Amino acid sequence: MGRAHFDGSFLPSGQEFPNFGQAAGANTTAGAERIPLLRSFRQRWLRCSHLNGTVPQESQPRRKREGTAADLIPPNANLNQLRVIAERCKACHLWRNATQTVFGERPSRAKIMFVGEQPGNEEDLAGRPFVGPAGRLLNEALEKAGLDRSKVYVTNVVKHFKFIRRGKRRIHDKPRASEINACRPWLDAEIDRLAPEVIVCLGATAAQTLLGKGFRVSVQRGEWINSDLAPSVMATVHPSALLRIDDEMARHQETARFIGDIKKAAQRLSRKK
Ligand code: SF4
Repeated sequence: MGRAHFDGSFLPSGQEFPNFGQAAGANTTAGAERIPLLRSFRQRWLRCSHLNGTVPQESQPRRKREGTAADLIPPNANLNQLRVIAERCKACHLWRNATQTVFGERPSRAKIMFVGEQPGNEEDLAGRPFVGPAGRLLNEALEKAGLDRSKVYVTNVVKHFKFIRRGKRRIHDKPRASEINACRPWLDAEIDRLAPEVIVCLGATAAQTLLGKGFRVSVQRGEWINSDLAPSVMATVHPSALLRIDDEMARHQETARFIGDIKKAAQRLSRKK
């Protein structure tokens, strides 16, 4: 039998390879100097095992897999109950540095849902989504589109703020696929409980999470996408992207396009009344 090592690798034992310990100088001081030899032997052994299809399972790198939030979600919990349960979610590591879970908010009977990427600095401190600068821009667009913010549901793909510290500032850091996967069950549950008529993805992370990796916001923004998530699904840019446009003229133009997309979503909603 081989033996598993602390890094999850698997090395053949002296029984299978009688000269292995001797050749590698295992358990001797001289052996420490022969570590490169040991590694090269192991690599060759693994290569041969791969070729003849006999790689023991233990030889695969054992990366610690983070779970997902799925196990935390009771099948019959409503949105308010989910919000309370999500406060204690530790399904990925993002809870460690964030202040609190920022779950989706507003009426459980909202007909339209906006999905962003993750809470930002202000959202993390307030415990509410879209209350920072991007949220204020979203509010402005909602108002111009005739939508009352208190009647729409706003949420994010990832419920904890991921950031990098720079001095006293906390700078947004894009969530990794594993973090998105871990958090995805919360978003699925929100969509399931709310059953919105219209979903608007704000930005590439939300769009690619819900509509597929190949989705390009720059190309397909404002289009109605065939999806089983809701009767009407579209994506547009994230309002924070508009705030990052330095050129004032370009920022105005892009903001007008963004408001146009939100109006289009609002019209779809009013058509269904
Ligand atoms: S980011 Fe999502 S999955 Fe990760 S701890 Fe927070 S709520 Fe749980």
